[in-house]
Amino acid sequence: MKFLLVFALLFTLTACGGGETPLPPTSIPGLQPASATSPASTPPPAGTPETPVPVGDDFFSRMGIELPAPTCNGTQTLSQTEGPYYTANTPKRNSLLEPGMTGQSLIVAGFVLDQNCQPIPNAWLDFWQADADGIYDNQGYILRGHQFADGQGRFYLETVVPGQYPGRTEHIHVKVQPPGGSVLTSQLYFPSSANQSDGIFDASLLMQIEDRGGFLLAFFNFVVNGN
Ligand code: FE
Repeated sequence: MKFLLVFALLFTLTACGGGETPLPPTSIPGLQPASATSPASTPPPAGTPETPVPVGDDFFSRMGIELPAPTCNGTQTLSQTEGPYYTANTPKRNSLLEPGMTGQSLIVAGFVLDQNCQPIPNAWLDFWQADADGIYDNQGYILRGHQFADGQGRFYLETVVPGQYPGRTEHIHVKVQPPGGSVLTSQLYFPSSANQSDGIFDASLLMQIEDRGGFLLAFFNFVVNGN
């Protein structure tokens, strides 16, 4: 009898964990309870392993960028000449910035939309431009890169303001292609730039610029044929 009482006492103490509150099991697969030695091991809060976070989500919120709600007037983005300096097979990247690069920092951001003003997820965008001195890298891929719009049809590009080169106002070249659609080739312009009477400039391709202190934020929405 005494043996049974001792056994019952030991069983009760073990079940109660000796008075300590046990850690509840985590509900997020792969996430371990936080410990003092691994404070930085917590994964991002958004999404789950089964639902990938759309490209750009972290960037937009981190930079405090809220895209204006798209408005469309039924016209598609004007097509313009590719010019002589396009290079195919660019690296996939949202940032064209590299160590030692000079010039005014610039973020270009916006939506890729169809003719009904609906966002087009996963549209391909390919950007290329001159550097701050107006010079293109025609041997490599400096200031060249492609990306895909995120699940909400948003894109962003980190770069520098391009310089003028003879005969041209400042501009950024771009190609945009909806999944399964045709390629739009065009150029983007700066409201403050000089020499806008270069024969190619078009006011419908002006970006809307905000000075954010350390960088310029430029909005532009592409409207393409989503069919
Ligand atoms: Fe050019």
